[in-house]
Amino acid sequence: DIFPGDLSDNPMQRNTPKVLFATVKPAGFDGPKLISFNETLSAEIGLGKHEEKDLDFLVGTNLPENVKTYATAYAGHQFGNWAGQLGDGRAILAGEIINKDGKKTEIQWKGAGATPYSRHADGRAVLRSSVREYLMSEAMYHLGVPTTRALSLAFTGEDVVRDMMYNGNPQLEKGAVVIRTAESFLRFGHFELMSAQREYKTLQDLVDFTIENYYPEVTSEGIQKYRDFFKSICTRTADLMTEWFRVGFVHGVMNTDNMSVLGLTIDYGPYSMMDEYDLNFTPNTTDLPGRRYAFGKQGQISQWNLWQLANALHPLIKDEKFLEETLNHYGTYFWEAHDRMLCRKFGFDELRDGDEEFFTNWQGLMQELHLDYTLFFNQLEKLSTETDIKSLFENISYSVLNDENIKKLEDFIKKYDKRISSNVISKEESLSLMRHSNPKFTLRNYLLYQCIEEINIGKTEIFEKLIRALENPYEELYPEFSVKRPSNYDDTSGCSMLS
Ligand code: AMP
Ligand code: MG
Ligand code: MG
Repeated sequence: DIFPGDLSDNPMQRNTPKVLFATVKPAGFDGPKLISFNETLSAEIGLGKHEEKDLDFLVGTNLPENVKTYATAYAGHQFGNWAGQLGDGRAILAGEIINKDGKKTEIQWKGAGATPYSRHADGRAVLRSSVREYLMSEAMYHLGVPTTRALSLAFTGEDVVRDMMYNGNPQLEKGAVVIRTAESFLRFGHFELMSAQREYKTLQDLVDFTIENYYPEVTSEGIQKYRDFFKSICTRTADLMTEWFRVGFVHGVMNTDNMSVLGLTIDYGPYSMMDEYDLNFTPNTTDLPGRRYAFGKQGQISQWNLWQLANALHPLIKDEKFLEETLNHYGTYFWEAHDRMLCRKFGFDELRDGDEEFFTNWQGLMQELHLDYTLFFNQLEKLSTETDIKSLFENISYSVLNDENIKKLEDFIKKYDKRISSNVISKEESLSLMRHSNPKFTLRNYLLYQCIEEINIGKTEIFEKLIRALENPYEELYPEFSVKRPSNYDDTSGCSMLS
């Protein structure tokens, strides 16, 4: 009863004052075809095994009459500007399932049809974006990064019209639906909407609900409860950003409506794993030329987003000084967490004097020599057995390494060896830190591109292989995936950058 309201009689309505949802039914599709079902996740959340007859449900067709499904309203700041009311434009919630341990999971279709928040768009999703969401969210999960997850992927049997960026002409693409799950899909934008509409009572109800259900670490009462809640969101967000930096994930659209209040990775759009290490890299063509959402800016941008959340929560917390201090502390906390994360990637025992300078030099070297982020750390692990720097690193650069470059690498490795020898932990412990922090497999955009091309012609070999690889990211199951991005898949081929 927290959010009363039912706007299903008026599906074209966009503004839904005083409510955070509208009931809406999925469109329903005639020719669904299953591409993949995540048995492990299904068992985990309490849904059990999948049978042939469940296919309709997986795309939201023929739901029982008594089932109420709904979309939520939120607002947000997009590319730094207030965008007003938005909402689940192509996501519809089926509700929540509770497993035998009492754990609740929200279930949501993405691409199952228009909602009152779709505005002029169609509420559909294409195969391309659906495969990308399905595979990448699971890849992040297995990497150990907090994320929404994916339960199923199916064709709808319907073609969808999309403008393709490479020629600007409308194209027909195969429609698909992903079912995704999360403990909650609540975003910063939900809180921003209530605050912007000055519905402070609903805002408070929403915050109380969030704390009670998802923030067990907040145990205080009164205003202090709201302060502690904000502090916790800051911590979770900083920890998430650190994880993105660890694995080389660039989100690409860090608008506040794409920021999870639970600190999960949410909204897999034009994201990319980083091939060539580049702090300025953004995979999102609509993020040019500003590069607001570039890899290296994600810490800063998350802080900016938290400022917007702080503004939204101000009516409850009523303490500007506290909010400002907490946000300033965020920067310090994030950079410390970030540097400690880098320590583990390098196999350092703890953050020591001089490490920060070491990291800065390393970043410069990576950029200057155009080295692959993931492969660099994989090669670094081999230093103990292989000492020829040239042969270790020459194949992981996106340019040609000359003698001068090799000399720079050798000098760097000397400094690295010196730092490693000052560790108080053993060589084995140091290597173990590295192996647990540095993935051997990352889901590169060109692999997704190949996989989607293949599914389009009815084959799933690459897809299945990618699933096995992403389920074991800290092992090298397929040596052919442990190479840098082939040169025919450069930034202009339409597989490294997306919109
Ligand atoms: P995003 O950039 O993915 O965060 O999307 C921004 C907003 O546009 C969200 O509120 C989405 O729900 C909405 N949206 C994106 N694609 C569609 C679509 N095909 N149909 C309806 N709404 C959409
Ligand atoms: Mg979004
Ligand atoms: Mg999106």
